[in-house]
Amino acid sequence: MEFEPLALSAGPYLDLQCEGGARLIGSECGDCGHRLFPTAAVCPNCMSENMKRLPLSRDGRVYSFTVLRQAPPGFESPSIIAYVDMPEGVRIFTHLDMQPGEPHCDMPVRLKPVAPKTDKLGRKVVQFKFAAVENA
Ligand SMILES: [Zn+2]
Repeated sequence: MEFEPLALSAGPYLDLQCEGGARLIGSECGDCGHRLFPTAAVCPNCMSENMKRLPLSRDGRVYSFTVLRQAPPGFESPSIIAYVDMPEGVRIFTHLDMQPGEPHCDMPVRLKPVAPKTDKLGRKVVQFKFAAVENA
């Protein structure tokens, strides 16, 4: 039996039409100021529903990363997953478009949208990675 995933997001978290290029979209609570990514309909800090759209910067810095050598189905191996800290105070879980040995902590990286995939239920799955600034 297949179950539909819960819709936890309050809207698209990647906007390809932003002026100057694609941006990730987070949320900011209008009551307590808590920021998060991806978008959310309810603030996890104060339970307010007064959430505002927060376009994030394109550039961030690698907080931490690891190399996956046993990738799940549909992913390439080796691949690199990371947390990237954004200037808005949001930490993003992402893939890095790099080879093992290339990333390092505090490395400046830039958002790099990649072509959408289609999941096994036929839905379009939006994807993004971060890359070294000179390769984004
Ligand atoms: Zn709040």
